[in-house]
Amino acid sequence: MSQKLIVGNWKMNGGAEFNATLLNALLSQSAQWQALVAVCVPSVYLGQVQHIVQGSAIALGAQDVSAHEAGAYTGEISAAMLKDFGTRYAIVGHSERRQYHGETDATVATKAQRALAAGITPIVCVGETLEEREAGRTEEVVKRQLAAVIHANGHCISEIVVAYEPVWAIGTGKTATPEMAQQVHAVLRAQLHAASEKADRVHILYGGSMNASNAQQLLAQPDIDGGLVGGAALKSADFLSIIAAAQ
Ligand code: PEP
Repeated sequence: MSQKLIVGNWKMNGGAEFNATLLNALLSQSAQWQALVAVCVPSVYLGQVQHIVQGSAIALGAQDVSAHEAGAYTGEISAAMLKDFGTRYAIVGHSERRQYHGETDATVATKAQRALAAGITPIVCVGETLEEREAGRTEEVVKRQLAAVIHANGHCISEIVVAYEPVWAIGTGKTATPEMAQQVHAVLRAQLHAASEKADRVHILYGGSMNASNAQQLLAQPDIDGGLVGGAALKSADFLSIIAAAQ
């Protein structure tokens, strides 16, 4: 992959003043970036962040999208609404949504479909729990999660981004070793190749406690095309170091 993709997932963090300070600090360095960069922000701030990043090297992303097109779904936000704010990416199937909101593989696949139909690139998260890893089920789990999205999205599959996020590494400070991550990325790459001849253009990101010190080694792996970054995306210096490591 010629250009890496670094995506910040702010989760439920930020605030109007904090967002502006963080984004302006990032933008002040953006002339040096070789990687593609995006931030996935809480939906109430899409308008604010759109205004700040418009025409810049930072693309706008959302953290979720409704599985429904429109209608009586109180509290939900449709893909068309995200598109109204210039949203380029939407995370789907983050493990926190699977865990706390009961999202199934089928729901995640439908969300990816809604995003693609609106011209938004879904960042499809897959990853095993510690229990599943210890039971030797990592490959089976991530392949099942990705298969649901491939099945529902067929010929569009080369338009997605995949993020391998081992659940046990998210927000815990425990990172998969570059070798462990590479092994899973290679499995996901092969699965995408079997589904589409254009699979080479799919960015496969690693996520799970990526930080300024471990980013370079992770990003040096042949099948790691970028990062999905949580905690370290909230500090401009750390996020900038990760972007710099993605050359
Ligand atoms: C994430 O939430 O997608 C994530 C990778 O978080 P963290 O970097 O904090 O582990």
